[in-house]
Amino acid sequence: MPILDVNTVDFLSHSPDQTRRIGERLGGALQTGDVICLQGDLGAGKTTLVQGIAQGWGSLDSVSSPTFILVNIYRRADQGQLFHMDAYRLDSTLEAEELDLDSMLAAGALIIEWPERMSGLVPEEQLWVTLEHVTDLERRMKFQATGSRHADLLEVLRTAAGGDN
Ligand code: ADP
Ligand code: MG
Repeated sequence: MPILDVNTVDFLSHSPDQTRRIGERLGGALQTGDVICLQGDLGAGKTTLVQGIAQGWGSLDSVSSPTFILVNIYRRADQGQLFHMDAYRLDSTLEAEELDLDSMLAAGALIIEWPERMSGLVPEEQLWVTLEHVTDLERRMKFQATGSRHADLLEVLRTAAGGDN
């Protein structure tokens, strides 16, 4: 796991389960207001990672692709909320502006798939994850943090990625 710089963790996952486990560690550390952006082509492992995140966060709901309704809300026993947005089908910036990100971030953490489709609206401070298909079972995941809160999440990932996964 080469550390490119202090704000980046580069990780090579060798299986869907390993991707889920990394997600679980991240999900367990999530707090209200945190933003996770997932950039990667179809099959790169975005949904697999979200499954782990939701599990680690303690979701009572299972993860599904929010392709048509744009945002899924997952619940937890303590009434916590986790927002899962898919910007793939956003047609216009106008439509994106109608999404009330501020209300979501006041209520929980937010995961955004296809964040590059709403670039101007993505909160400045986030954990940006770039996922890449390497081989059948390998996916490269690059985590980049902006702001001190997300740098804390990066530390969690650094420990998880370096430890026994
Ligand atoms: P996306 O949401 O980015 O389209 P998915 O998570 O839905 O991607 O799909 C990833 C596919 O790749 C799944 O079929 C999964 O089983 C497979 N896969 C193989 N290796 C991995 C890996 N290391 N991490 C995540 N997914 C993997
Ligand atoms: Mg997906």
